[in-house]
Amino acid sequence: MSWLGPDDEDELDEFDESAVRVRPNPKANRPRTKRRPAHEDAEVGRVLGVDRGRYSVLLGEDTAEERTVTAARARELRRTPIVTGDAARVVGDTSGDEGTLGRIVGIVDRTSLLRRSADDTDQVERVIVANADQMLIVVAAADPEPRARLVDRYLVAALDAGVRPLLVVTKTDLADPAPFLSHFEGLDLRVFTSARGEMPVAEIGAALVGHSTVFVGHSGVGKSTLVNGLVPSAGRATGHVNEVTGRGRHTSSSTVSLRYRGAEGNGWVIDTPGVRSFGLGHVDPANILAAFTELAEIAQECPRGCTHLPDAPDCALNEAAASGQLGEAGRARLDSLQRLLETFGVRPAAGGHG
Ligand code: GDP
Ligand code: ZN
Repeated sequence: MSWLGPDDEDELDEFDESAVRVRPNPKANRPRTKRRPAHEDAEVGRVLGVDRGRYSVLLGEDTAEERTVTAARARELRRTPIVTGDAARVVGDTSGDEGTLGRIVGIVDRTSLLRRSADDTDQVERVIVANADQMLIVVAAADPEPRARLVDRYLVAALDAGVRPLLVVTKTDLADPAPFLSHFEGLDLRVFTSARGEMPVAEIGAALVGHSTVFVGHSGVGKSTLVNGLVPSAGRATGHVNEVTGRGRHTSSSTVSLRYRGAEGNGWVIDTPGVRSFGLGHVDPANILAAFTELAEIAQECPRGCTHLPDAPDCALNEAAASGQLGEAGRARLDSLQRLLETFGVRPAAGGHG
C-alpha cells in the first residue's frame, strides 16, 4: 500500500549528519540571486514516513487528486528534521507517478511535537511525530502487568506537548482493570477497556475521527492487535513479545501512518513500534498545570515560581485543598497533578528512563 510510509530514523540521521559535516554552512556565501524563489506554488501534504532520506508525502488528501509522492528535501532544509505527521510544502514533480521525485521546500509550523527520549545508547532526543493531537496509550490489565508510572510518563509527554491523552486497557479478560485505573481517577482521561473477543473498535474508532492519534505502549500489550482491529488493512505483526533485553536500539522500528476509515469519518493512526518512551527532558510544568483547567485558574493566586507541590509555601492549590474548597474530587485531581509534577516536571530530572 503506497501510503504506508516506513520511517527509518537511523538512515535519516546518517543522511543529516554526513551532509552537515561535509558542508558546514552551505548558504553562507551564496549570492542572493541564486536563492530559490519563495515557492508560492508549493502544495502542502502530510508526511507519511521517511526512508533513507526519501519522504512519502500524501497530497490532495481526501480529494479526487489524492496521491502519494516521493520527495527529497531541499538543500536548505538539510538540518531541519522532517518527520511523520509534518505538513510539508512540496514543489517539482508532484504527480506521484512511478519514478518521479518531488522536493520538500518547507514545513508548515507544527501544532505539536513528540520526541523520543534519549536512552543508554543515544543521548539525543529525536523528533518522531509532528502535529498529533491525541495520544492513545495502550496498557494491558495483565501480561504484562500494568505500571502506573509508565502511564504517567506518557501522560506527561502528551500534556506537555498539548496532545490529548486517551487510555486503552487491554486484556481485561485476564484481570480486573479497576485497581490499576484508580490511579487515574483525578484525570480528564477517557478510558476504554478491551478484552479478547470484545475489542471496542467502534468506540475507539469514533474517538479517532478527525484526529491524528499516536498509538503508544510497551511490547506485548496488544497494541498491534488493536491497530489491526481498527485498520483491517494494516497487517501489523502481532504476538512478538521478545523484546530481548529491552535495551539498545530497535533496528526494526518503523513509524507508520495508517488511515482509520469509520462510519463517521476518517482519522489517522500513527503507530510507533519500538518507542519505549517519549522524551521528558524539556517538560514545562505550566503545560501540565494547564491541562487541569480549574486548578490552573486557582493557581493564578500562587506566589511567583510556585511549584504547587504539597510542601510549596503559600500555594493557592494546597490552601484550597486544606480549606475544603476543592472538595473530594478536586483533591483527587490535585493529587494527580502533584504526582505528575513531582515525578517529571518540577524537580530536576532524576535521569530515570523506566
Ligand atoms: P503488541 O506487542 O502490543 O503489538 O501486542 P500484540 O498485539 O502483538 O499482542 C500480544 C499478545 O497479546 C498476542 O498474543 C495477542 O493475541 C494477545 N492479546 C491481545 N489482546 C488481548 C486481549 O484483549 N486479551 C488477551 N487475553 N490477549 C490479548
Ligand atoms: Zn501553587
